[in-house]
Amino acid sequence: MKQYDIAVIGAGAMGSAAAYHLAKSGKKILVLDRYAPPHSLGSSHGESRIIREAYFEHPMYVPLVRQAYALWNQLEQESGKKLFLQTGGLMISDKNNKVFSGAAASAATYGIAYDYLDNQAIKKRFRAFLPGKDMVALYEKFAGILFPAACIRAQLTLSRKPNVSLQFNETVTQLQQAPDAITITTTSAAYKARKVIVSAGAWITAVIPEVKLPLEVKRQVLFWFTSLNASDKRFMPENFPVFIWEYKPNHLFYGFPDLGNGVKIAIHHRGTAATADTINRKVSKQEVIEITALAKNHFDSELHYRSSAVCMYTNTPDEHFIIDYHPDNRNIIIASACSGHGFKFSSAIGKILSEMALEEKLSFDIGKFRLGRKMQPG
Ligand SMILES: Cc1cc2nc3c(=O)[nH]c(=O)nc-3n(C[C@H](O)[C@H](O)[C@H](O)COP(=O)(O)OP(=O)(O)OC[C@H]3O[C@@H](n4cnc5c(N)ncnc54)[C@H](O)[C@@H]3O)c2cc1C
Repeated sequence: MKQYDIAVIGAGAMGSAAAYHLAKSGKKILVLDRYAPPHSLGSSHGESRIIREAYFEHPMYVPLVRQAYALWNQLEQESGKKLFLQTGGLMISDKNNKVFSGAAASAATYGIAYDYLDNQAIKKRFRAFLPGKDMVALYEKFAGILFPAACIRAQLTLSRKPNVSLQFNETVTQLQQAPDAITITTTSAAYKARKVIVSAGAWITAVIPEVKLPLEVKRQVLFWFTSLNASDKRFMPENFPVFIWEYKPNHLFYGFPDLGNGVKIAIHHRGTAATADTINRKVSKQEVIEITALAKNHFDSELHYRSSAVCMYTNTPDEHFIIDYHPDNRNIIIASACSGHGFKFSSAIGKILSEMALEEKLSFDIGKFRLGRKMQPG
């Protein structure tokens, strides 16, 4: 049986970032994935992911996203690939609702520069948007778009070193724990590793069922629309920032400019319960009708439905991440960092996971992401 210092199970956003950092350690590393990442069956596909700094969910994410920005930049330099497009970002809501007020609170805590826009100022500056009279926005200049497939590919390409074995299309079916090593059984082999990082996304509970992680997988649909007026430049990246829009209290949708396939929009956290293996990947007519109505009410243009994709959120009850050691075995490290907002942080989380596995000082305090916390819905 082949022996490794550290194994990474799942090479999506988190696992590929961990692999990239671990590859530099010189240790013997095994990276396993049930598919061949980047792929479109998990949580990291669909063309684009928002990165932003004035974090409405909680100010604790600001130092983490700052580390993530620096690491994405480093990855761009090392890989020579374009991974990020700065578009600016609009956080839109009623002044007292969480998207604007939470983002403004994070900006105040960490001195993040932003422009305050009332509804007229939003319309004047970004002419495709149609905000109602009570809507205001925080505009942050450095927000933008990460290209998830390119990020994962760059991390895995840079992981290909003599000390690293990348095994794809191989599903982990069992982990057997012993004091000196963990035996990893897959659909085609068995391996031993001293440490294991479990970053299996929406499948994570199947890999470590004994931990009983409090997770719920939700089906999420992404939609692309194009303007009927082909010469309409208002949806192009230079005129249309990424946005998150709380159109009524606790109802959010978000979107991206046209990167060639149309404007992408999606509803945040309204998906139905699903499992990674049985999820319905077909998008219904009714779903298209609903999102088309939302688009019509919020943009000053006839938008035409073009395509859609199904993806999965893996949610904790409080929508914060889980980054911790297995409760009964410190040699198993768990990263379930989704809840629909994990991608932007994955460069930094991968580094933290590698530090945990290498028993180094952590570059970020994971206290708030521990398993033992009270996970009350926010
Ligand atoms: C529609 C949608 C929109 C989003 N928008 C944003 C956004 O704008 N900004 C943002 O920051 N975040 C966003 N997120 C969240 C972010 O994309 C996820 O948090 C992140 O991609 C999850 O990464 P992961 O590594 O946990 O999972 P994945 O990338 O899915 O990786 C898990 C990997 O584990 C592998 N695997 C599973 N089981 C096994 C097994 N038994 N053996 C071997 N391999 C296995 C899978 O094949 C997969 O490759 C969004 C998510 C979705 C679904």
